[in-house]
Amino acid sequence: MSGTAKTKGAARCDECGSVFAVWMAPDGDIEPIGSRAGCPCGKSAFRVLQ
Ligand SMILES: [Zn+2]
Repeated sequence: MSGTAKTKGAARCDECGSVFAVWMAPDGDIEPIGSRAGCPCGKSAFRVLQ
């Protein structure tokens, strides 16, 4: 099983609208590239941009 492959994408913070480059895990997890803690505004809820 190779369930660790991540896809690069873009996502927008639900709170402040900032857009980040993110890693998208196969299980739906989203992790901002270069800021693992989430958005600087303090939220970590992101909406993936398609
Ligand atoms: Zn934010």
